[in-house]
Amino acid sequence: MNPLAGLSEQLELRKEQGLYRRRHVIDGPQGVLLRRDGRELLSFCSNDYLGLANHPQVAEAMRAGVSRYGVGSGAAHLISGHSVAHHALEDELAGLLGAERALLFSTGYMANLGVLSALLGRGDTLLQDKLNHASLIDGAAQSGARLRRYRHADMEGLGEQLARAAGARLIATDGVFSMDGDLAPLREMAVLARQHDAALMVDDAHGFGVLGKQGAGSVKAAGLGFEEVPIYMATLGKALGVAGAFVAGSDDLIETLIQRARSYVYTTAMPAALAEATRTSLRIMAEEQWRRDHLRTLVNRFRAGAQALGLQLVDSPTPIQPLILGDAQTALDWSEALLAQDILVTAIRPPTVPQGAARLRVTLSALHQAEHVDRLLDALQPLAEAA
Ligand code: PMP
Repeated sequence: MNPLAGLSEQLELRKEQGLYRRRHVIDGPQGVLLRRDGRELLSFCSNDYLGLANHPQVAEAMRAGVSRYGVGSGAAHLISGHSVAHHALEDELAGLLGAERALLFSTGYMANLGVLSALLGRGDTLLQDKLNHASLIDGAAQSGARLRRYRHADMEGLGEQLARAAGARLIATDGVFSMDGDLAPLREMAVLARQHDAALMVDDAHGFGVLGKQGAGSVKAAGLGFEEVPIYMATLGKALGVAGAFVAGSDDLIETLIQRARSYVYTTAMPAALAEATRTSLRIMAEEQWRRDHLRTLVNRFRAGAQALGLQLVDSPTPIQPLILGDAQTALDWSEALLAQDILVTAIRPPTVPQGAARLRVTLSALHQAEHVDRLLDALQPLAEAA
């Protein structure tokens, strides 16, 4: 059968189910105010947590990078695409985290695929939280390892599955769960990993820059290091406001990824200018603690206000503050109602989140002001009252 047959019927069905996805076309830089269709919207749905995506120094570093390195990197890292800028960024990332080495990937999706397929194969077992990011789940398929998913944060379940696991064992978890904002129980996971001779990998896409001293992330914030979490992955397109990702760990781990991670070997290196911009971003992230302090104030303000409105919150200390609404249509209706007041919070629906757990994923940025949060709460009030 032709795979193109029946596409329009399938698309129609998605629309009827409230699951159809549309892209918003934004005109202008990222920020808490976005221009869309000639309208200025107050946005609560970007991952630009520290507000660096349009920071003048980061933008200037990118321009200087283009002047020095041009635009394209020209080839994969292993051919001729690996520049002084990439190399310096890797050293600086490793230095900040206290890792032996770090390795850049073009995206977080590719980093997860690369790590899992480089380290695991048939006969091995990969244990994952049910709410892990799609790229970790997809990495399992690419690796060929047996995937065992335990209920969200269920350490008893993880322990039982570890006891039964065959072959090499790797536990992979989001450090901060991307759609819920809660933290993985990393200390308990580290104990289980040690007891069962398993490796622990943390995807800290939403923790790096946001948690811990200098923004070093959820592992450091939990008081752990590379001994307990030997595989640390984080993305550069969220708190750092740029794009790409890295893996940090031992020299042996990084050398192995350079040899074997297909999503590293067979792809064009990120532009060197982007690496240059990221170096500036990283410096601002480490130096400017006020961004994290301000975020914490905003998170507390939003949580207190939402609770006063009787809205159900997730136990999240991070800038990800979802309002779980249930069915997809309700999430869409709330999103539309906010949009009518020029507030942008996109609805997150299955399969990104489990059935019955559609939500507004409110995210805060260090560029938001208290008045912005209050405007959101005011707009939510009639919705909460009618619910
Ligand atoms: N891991 C997590 C937890 C994420 O939220 C994301 C991004 N949505 C990724 C990995 C993928 O990162 P990237 O966008 O750089 O591909």
